[in-house]
Amino acid sequence: MLRAAANRLGERADAEALLLHALGQSRGWLFAHADDAVDMEVQTAFEALVARREAGEPVAYLTGRRGFWTLELEVTPATLIPRPETELLVELALERLTRDAAAGVADLGTGSGAIALAIASECPQAQVLATDASADALAVARRNAQRLGVGNLRFAQGDWLAPLAGQRFALIVSNPPYIEAADPHLAQGDLRFEPASALASGADGLDDIRRIVAGAPGHLDADGWLLFEHGWNQGAAARALLREAGYVQVFTAQDLEARDRVSGGRWAIP
Ligand code: GLN
Repeated sequence: MLRAAANRLGERADAEALLLHALGQSRGWLFAHADDAVDMEVQTAFEALVARREAGEPVAYLTGRRGFWTLELEVTPATLIPRPETELLVELALERLTRDAAAGVADLGTGSGAIALAIASECPQAQVLATDASADALAVARRNAQRLGVGNLRFAQGDWLAPLAGQRFALIVSNPPYIEAADPHLAQGDLRFEPASALASGADGLDDIRRIVAGAPGHLDADGWLLFEHGWNQGAAARALLREAGYVQVFTAQDLEARDRVSGGRWAIP
């Protein structure tokens, strides 16, 4: 049954994840029970999941779960599916925080809460504010914080800098939408099922990054950092936006595939 599904999907890992979801079991179970017969009910549920995957639905939406950093997160179609390359943004954020100092951190467009939860769980003294324009996404992020028992996290609904009104932070991070609106990939594969508002951002993909770069200084402490993810071909544009706005120590970091992935700068003016 598993082998046939793996062949249909062309991905054994996908078939395994869907079978374990239908069984309500975790991965370890499969090793001990690989040869067990499976109930009719489970077979029917598994078959339905495989058919939906074959029709293109992302595995993470079918199982409702995705691992990110050290955390297992709930994800729904209201949230982007966290990507492994976004862990670079978490690493760069953690390098700028002292684990036992009470720094204020804001994560703009938190989605499932992946970045905010990773930072908050690594830095229990940090006070993290996670924002999103989508109430449905924030509900998912709240459930994740509750289930994972991460307490040093607050939530606020609104567009980019709006929920930060009257507040300043040592660090602002974001994985905003940055795909060009006309990019054909948006109509292909898993991206078709993810919220367009979390993926695409105007003709050159930089509309939301422009707003974040322009607005963040009003909410950064002196010497505070802004760090954001972007596309592999947007490093130079991101650095130019940061420099023109007056940030210093502007840099771009590359992901494990040696592609430009995160840029940032420091706001030196109090
Ligand atoms: N990295 C994602 C992709 O290209 C896009 C995520 C985003 O827009 N923030 O699939």
